[in-house]
Amino acid sequence: MSLIVQKFGGSSVADAERIRNVARLAMAEQERGNSVVVVVSAMGKTTDRLLALVDEISAHPDSREIDMLLSTGEQQTIALLAMAIHSANGKAISFTGPQVGITTDNSHRKAKIVSINTEKMVRELEAGKVVIVAGFQGMTGDNEITTLGRGGSDTTAVALAAALKADRCDIYTDVKGVYTADPRIVKEARMLKSITYDEMLELASLGSKVLHSRSVEFGKNYNVPIQVRSSFEDVPGTMVIKETEEMEDIVVSGVAYNRGEAKVSIMGVPDKPGIAADVFGRVGEANIVVDMIIQNVGADGRNDISFTVSKDDLQDALELAEKIAKDLGAEKVRSDAEIAKVSVVGVGMKSHAGVAATMFRALAKNNINIEMISTSEIKVSCVIRESDVDRAVQAIHDEFELREGL
Ligand code: ADP
Ligand code: ASP
Ligand code: MG
Repeated sequence: MSLIVQKFGGSSVADAERIRNVARLAMAEQERGNSVVVVVSAMGKTTDRLLALVDEISAHPDSREIDMLLSTGEQQTIALLAMAIHSANGKAISFTGPQVGITTDNSHRKAKIVSINTEKMVRELEAGKVVIVAGFQGMTGDNEITTLGRGGSDTTAVALAAALKADRCDIYTDVKGVYTADPRIVKEARMLKSITYDEMLELASLGSKVLHSRSVEFGKNYNVPIQVRSSFEDVPGTMVIKETEEMEDIVVSGVAYNRGEAKVSIMGVPDKPGIAADVFGRVGEANIVVDMIIQNVGADGRNDISFTVSKDDLQDALELAEKIAKDLGAEKVRSDAEIAKVSVVGVGMKSHAGVAATMFRALAKNNINIEMISTSEIKVSCVIRESDVDRAVQAIHDEFELREGL
């Protein structure tokens, strides 16, 4: 007998009929002789709707209260799914994250799971029930409710699979698997039969929201086989696995984009040692994660320092940058929320030259300006105008000839 963790995202549980479909998929897995844990997201666009309400109520909402609110979305789905299974004469029980001992650190809205207590789930699985767990949420050691960041239900699922030593974690979603680019932007994108943890981790961290990046980290660290597959069509999906030798031949496996970043620039900073350490030390202390950094040295003994942060952190980052600028005697602070990042990812880049040049050529041919660049062993990223994203992803996908049939 195997233990399978299934995860269903918002669109897979958007209405009563879809919840009944999930009940059927969970019960079918059980009928094949397996124990089943199901993790679900909030129904449809519930989380977006709750966040829109927050915007209407408050300009500076408290993140503890946001977590209190957002965690209700997933709690609706678990109860409805349990009822759907009961109505189909199955056995099931629903739990919130805190009820199954998902303990996190104290970072509201981007909490990290630190431990999971599997006792209760194991007891219910042994009693033959489908165990249904609310995704995206946990509790601090201090009994405070937290959420894991947008898309975090994937992480709940893979973390539960790791803690329960599950045989597989199936991520059911609204596309058939992981593609060479977002199939909603690039119509000819190709579905991958498999992808390595490392490549998937890069794609996810660079914005491919098909998997939450921390879920891939859990999968990699605990060796959980992850399958991304469709809720609506019974066809094999994409397996996320360890690297194999022949994969080195594939130079680029995918294109990712992220519209969720913004740029902050501190202009006219005095050019002397220790300034960058000071600026980014203070940004780090404020728990703001910085992605790219660029420093332009001016002729007059002053520099411009620009960095990108998540749009969610922009307000905090700006307020902090204003303070830093004042303390350092910098001239002014600017922000730009109209940027986006496009990236190419592939393990084969380690042994193939010219990937960056090919990407720049694709953008140049389409008259798309590059504002920032960063590279690592297996990725190249460029910051561009947000309005250019769709064209850029399509152009890069074409230039690397990633489409179906090649
Ligand atoms: P869920 O609600 O099931 O968690 P998400 O919306 O979070 O679903 O993730 C699935 C979406 O990810 C797809 O609808 C697709 O538009 C997007 N996506 C982005 N990049 C990729 C990619 N490389 N492969 C597949 N889907 C991708
Ligand atoms: N409901 C949460 C979100 O929309 C978590 C998830 O769906 O994974 O971000
Ligand atoms: Mg998701």
